[in-house]
Amino acid sequence: MTGTDGLESVAEMFGEDVFNDAAMRMRLPKKVYQALKNSVDNGTELDAQTADMVAHEMKEWAIEKGATHFTHWFQPLTGVTAEKHDSFINAPGEDGKTLMSLSGKELIRGEPDASSFPSGGLRATFEARGYTIWDAASPAFIRRDEGGATLCIPTAFCSYKGEALDQKTPLLRSMEVIGREALRLIRLFGNRTSKKVTPYIGAEQEYFIIDRDKYLKRTDLVFTGRTLFGAMPPKGQELDDHYFGTLRPRIASYMKDVNRELWKLGVPAKTQHNEAAPAQHELAPIYEKVNVAVDHNQLIMQTLKRVATRHGLRCLLHEKPFAGVNGSGKHNNWSLMTDDGINLLDPGRTPHENIQFLLVLTCILKAVDDYAGLLRESAADVGNDLRLGGNEAPPAIVSVFLGEQLEDVINQLVSTGRASSTRKGGKLDTGVSYMTGINKDATDRNRTSPFAFTGNKFEFRMVGSRDSVAAPNVVLNTIVADAFHEASEAIESAGEDRFEETVHDLIKKYAAEHRRIIFNGNGYSESWVTEARRRGLPNLASMVDAIPELVEDRTVSLFEKYGVFSKKELISRMEVKYETYAKDMNIEARTMLSQACKEYLPAIIRYTGILAESVCSVEKAGADPAVQREQLLKLNGLLGEADEAVKHLGRVTAEAEKCPAGRRQALLYRDTVVPAMEALRKPVDAAEMLVDREIWPVPSYAELMFEV
Ligand code: ADP
Ligand code: MG
Repeated sequence: MTGTDGLESVAEMFGEDVFNDAAMRMRLPKKVYQALKNSVDNGTELDAQTADMVAHEMKEWAIEKGATHFTHWFQPLTGVTAEKHDSFINAPGEDGKTLMSLSGKELIRGEPDASSFPSGGLRATFEARGYTIWDAASPAFIRRDEGGATLCIPTAFCSYKGEALDQKTPLLRSMEVIGREALRLIRLFGNRTSKKVTPYIGAEQEYFIIDRDKYLKRTDLVFTGRTLFGAMPPKGQELDDHYFGTLRPRIASYMKDVNRELWKLGVPAKTQHNEAAPAQHELAPIYEKVNVAVDHNQLIMQTLKRVATRHGLRCLLHEKPFAGVNGSGKHNNWSLMTDDGINLLDPGRTPHENIQFLLVLTCILKAVDDYAGLLRESAADVGNDLRLGGNEAPPAIVSVFLGEQLEDVINQLVSTGRASSTRKGGKLDTGVSYMTGINKDATDRNRTSPFAFTGNKFEFRMVGSRDSVAAPNVVLNTIVADAFHEASEAIESAGEDRFEETVHDLIKKYAAEHRRIIFNGNGYSESWVTEARRRGLPNLASMVDAIPELVEDRTVSLFEKYGVFSKKELISRMEVKYETYAKDMNIEARTMLSQACKEYLPAIIRYTGILAESVCSVEKAGADPAVQREQLLKLNGLLGEADEAVKHLGRVTAEAEKCPAGRRQALLYRDTVVPAMEALRKPVDAAEMLVDREIWPVPSYAELMFEV
């Protein structure tokens, strides 16, 4: 069916380019389909013959869709996806013709010589072997671009010894762990019907859109994804007129194309709107199983970028593209759902009676309180350092927002050991007679909380906009699984007769011991920082401060206990992160040096020359060049300051470069290079306000943010 604009209906196009369950059911022989499904649902190994048949049908389907190549699509520790393409062709036969094929072996396992990806010492370069292994739980899809159509097979990426080199492997491990522990817990509460518990997430994605031609004139944006210089325009976001504002035509047309591409890929893009900062927007998909949602979030980021280029635009996914206005994050909405549709985070109508919910809730409080630092680390990323704690994003201190209703229940539990009532939301009064009568939510929202309960899910709001959402979910799944594990052990050992009493004791114990993590107030305020310190909550201000959490003894034993990470894998991740931090900061510092020397200083010099000439000629004409002279002196002063700052930044960067990779180097960048970068930015931004705009060499903030 085609719509009024001559395009396919959305329902028809949805998932058109995905080898999803419907496509498999239609194309695979029943036995093969069942075997595959069984393998995904119950973790049984797929036999070679079945794999061959799945591969064959997948290839036939892909060729019908116009695909010429296939690729194992994986997520190394670079934060983006990687692929290596192979065409379907075989060696030509005697007759000079070729057959197209994809074997079961090619589907299941790939061996890219991918030794250049960060491994944090898990592999030396001579140990080049790494394997990509098919994740049959995330459907294959066709990606279309200027290179044609490619069948993308989602995979995990491991070393020769089976160590995880990617985001996905630990995520899949953690899903099994939380699935097992959650099922065990609900069985104790008498659930006999559910067969599986799976973490689901909906990841809201924020991004900026700017004009591509202007983007290309800014080397800072091109090399680092953010502006390293730039004076604030007269108008920022103070009027809040962009937030939820009407979409400009160019943006609306862009979003329309983004949605279509995503729908074809089976990504359930749902909500879109303008965000708080000028040129900032958001896209939210409907929530899905976490492994699929993590893949889909990568597809969302790639699609946002690719479609922007086609529209003469550029999508900025950096956490802080512009100083002075809001940055971008990714809100990770997380819940636990059974295969028969029960959400373990649903309080029901009267939470105080729902003791299973209260146990789940207090287990989560315990998990987040016990591992607040680790959770914060999972959102640590170079760009996020400019955002977290910056009065526009959650602070770097992890706390939990429960809302009045649940906090009241927790308070009753702690003080009396029992909760006997639940506050209701009541009716909403708008003051307009015909509008009265709608029921209010029992709790308001809190935009300033990093970990907020929002009705039947938790929203972890710290994640960076560029980052994969895999890492925070690995942590969430594992820490909550551990809390469930402890609770189940206690309930089982107390025995069935003492079930009610044990559950109540546990709820009360966890609530009392971990109440300090609950904070319903303003997370942006200074007083919260003081209060959090008093409560003993960690405040890890920067990525470099957070990284050591990865290898704390408690972290290692937690992850090893559940087989999510080995100590070696954790150390490797720590090393990759230090190195990434140093490399990113080095690129930023070098970009600043190059911009300052080749663009800004020459422009200031040119303009001071013009002013000097003007002083002379005005004087010659018998007038008073006081204003010109004052401008000249001011600019010359800034020029001197900038020149000193360039020299200093050059020196400290060279020193940091010489330092061997690791924590010490990362600290050098944070403590000497970052302040030197700030010192250079200051005089250049001040000069921007004084120099003739015709002479200023790059588009200004105003042009970038307001002229799209
Ligand atoms: P809110 O109104 O609380 O912001 P929305 O309905 O707008 O929630 O959803 C925000 C994101 O949370 C969306 O991606 C949505 O699909 C996701 N979401 C909604 N319910 C759940 C759930 N039970 N588990 C995980 N994610 C969810
Ligand atoms: Mg949001």
